[in-house]
Amino acid sequence: LSAQQPPSFAGATLALLTRHQKLPLVASALAPLGFNLQLTEAFDTDQLGTFSGEIARTQTPLQAALHKAKLAAELTGARYGLGSEGSFGGGPLPGLLNWDQELLVWFDTQTGQQVVAEASGAVSIRAQPFTTLASLHDILTQAPSGQAWMLQLDTTAKQPMYKGLQSQADIEAALTGSGWQSGQSVTLLPDLRAMHCPERQQYIRQAAMQLAAQLQQRCPACGAADFSVKSQQRGLPCASCLTATTAVLWRVQRCDCCGHQLNLRTEQLADPACCPQCNP
Ligand SMILES: [Zn+2]
Ligand SMILES: [Zn+2]
Repeated sequence: LSAQQPPSFAGATLALLTRHQKLPLVASALAPLGFNLQLTEAFDTDQLGTFSGEIARTQTPLQAALHKAKLAAELTGARYGLGSEGSFGGGPLPGLLNWDQELLVWFDTQTGQQVVAEASGAVSIRAQPFTTLASLHDILTQAPSGQAWMLQLDTTAKQPMYKGLQSQADIEAALTGSGWQSGQSVTLLPDLRAMHCPERQQYIRQAAMQLAAQLQQRCPACGAADFSVKSQQRGLPCASCLTATTAVLWRVQRCDCCGHQLNLRTEQLADPACCPQCNP
């Protein structure tokens, strides 16, 4: 084990690639670690895929976030890059509950280390058809404040016609411009780009706090960041008969840089209720 000093982040540039105003969402969590946060807009991340479907996503959210982190560092010459990617769907009740997962990937160009942080949760926004301005008004009054919208006038169209509509007045102007008449069905779709979606913003902030916590967990052996829990092992012995149960025995903190690991055991014995012998 080396007595190497942990790398300090004080004054180090951490670059974020976005045209969707994500910097303020991550800055308050990451700036206190010493990073000098730098925004780059030098690459249009929409080329990697859009929520509204003009450009299909070909990478997994994790691949996309890592790709953006590497691009951010490359475009700015920063040592550290940060990539953000959100995805909708999944969650505990797919189809019933709208779910957003926000990933942040931090990348160190010198060591190749990647740190992945995640926050996810339910969102209320969804596509809703309407036929009158009164029903449009009802939808908007129930939506989160600050959410922007897109319109899809023709349900056979592959893409929405208008994006980034911020108010009822904006939507009405778009409807008028399109020749829409009251009684005709139109679909109102949430604009999921981060600057237009307050529910995503909340999860991006949470992911940034999670990332900050992971970066501060230093490996006791080599000092690298992110000595966090990476896996767990089940098999905590039953309090009554000592049979291995499905309860967690250890959580494993592991360093991705040197491989050092530590098994954290918080419980000694498991409730017989989760024992396959005592409570089959
Ligand atoms: Zn280590
Ligand atoms: Zn038992």
